Amino acid sequence: MTVRTRADLDQLPAYVAGRTIPGSIKLASNEVSEGPLPSAVAAINQAAGEVHRYPDMGVGLLTEALAARFDVEPERIAVGCGSVALCEQLVQATCTAEDEVIFPWRSFEAYPIITHVVGAKQVRVPLTAGHALDLEAMLAAITPATRLIFVCTPNNPTGTLLRRAELESFLDRVPSDVLVVLDEAYFEFVSDPEGPDGVEIARRRENVASMRTFSKAYGLAGLRVGYTVAPPEVAAALRKVSIPFSVNALAQVAAIASLEAQDELQKRCANVIAERERVHRELLAIGYEVPETQANFVWLPLGERTTEFNEHCLENRVVVRAFVGEGARVTIGQPEENDAFLAAARSFDLTGG
Ligand code: PMP
Repeated sequence: MTVRTRADLDQLPAYVAGRTIPGSIKLASNEVSEGPLPSAVAAINQAAGEVHRYPDMGVGLLTEALAARFDVEPERIAVGCGSVALCEQLVQATCTAEDEVIFPWRSFEAYPIITHVVGAKQVRVPLTAGHALDLEAMLAAITPATRLIFVCTPNNPTGTLLRRAELESFLDRVPSDVLVVLDEAYFEFVSDPEGPDGVEIARRRENVASMRTFSKAYGLAGLRVGYTVAPPEVAAALRKVSIPFSVNALAQVAAIASLEAQDELQKRCANVIAERERVHRELLAIGYEVPETQANFVWLPLGERTTEFNEHCLENRVVVRAFVGEGARVTIGQPEENDAFLAAARSFDLTGG
């Protein structure tokens, strides 16, 4: 006899992490290749000698720092082991087996995995032909069983942004007992002045949460820390379903130091935005279709040619993230890394295949 695990897990796709290949440039996981902010590294070094102690389970100082930064009561903040853990806690906190979670597709690949594992029903709403969220179709998908809607903006992996006016009009029409989670993992890279500020929206709407992360612009992906500004009862429920001590001590101090280093953050985001615009422009000039992007990556909807393109990039020592049969997502790196990618993109036979 062997131990029995859940039979349904056999059908469940595994989360695919971007590959690290020694000697190759990794543009596969939407990290910032500049590294953590210097002040975060100093805080980590200082706290390293205390890691024999459990962290503050209530994440008090970081919660206070976030509350002060966003001018909200600390009761509205929940911190998680990466925002992906908060995604799971959000489904756990709102859904039982009969309830439905709506999300755009293709979008962040953890949404369907988490929804399935937690045990709720998933409702995937296809993107528009322009690779953007289809808010009208998402509204049409709402049923009395809907408890949660994930709205990813900018959307991973397509980079497309929702404009403030269209998002507000959508939110006006969502029933007030359905929680809308604005997944803003790439918020800091948005340069479009018409982009929404989810925290500002969450402050004035009772069924909206904004979820952000220290993994991307702040460069702390390896430490695993994300947060949400949510209605107080939702934040309380998230804390209840959380695994105890899920936010580690180094993550807490590094996140506080990073929050205080806004100047350093702005500088690096400006660099990413400038490089994003250059890479986007050059890809269009080569002949690729590339949707407008407001994140730290570009999306190449290559369809059936994705695998071939991925292999070509690997041969040229550039690791991108391929979604077989759909497209490739390429993270914006340092200028020389982007040059290496652009050289690979140029030497790919775009018209062949
Ligand atoms: N949301 C989106 C849209 C993402 O792309 C990611 C990371 N790829 C996350 C959430 C989770 O990030 P983390 O757990 O590192 O905070």
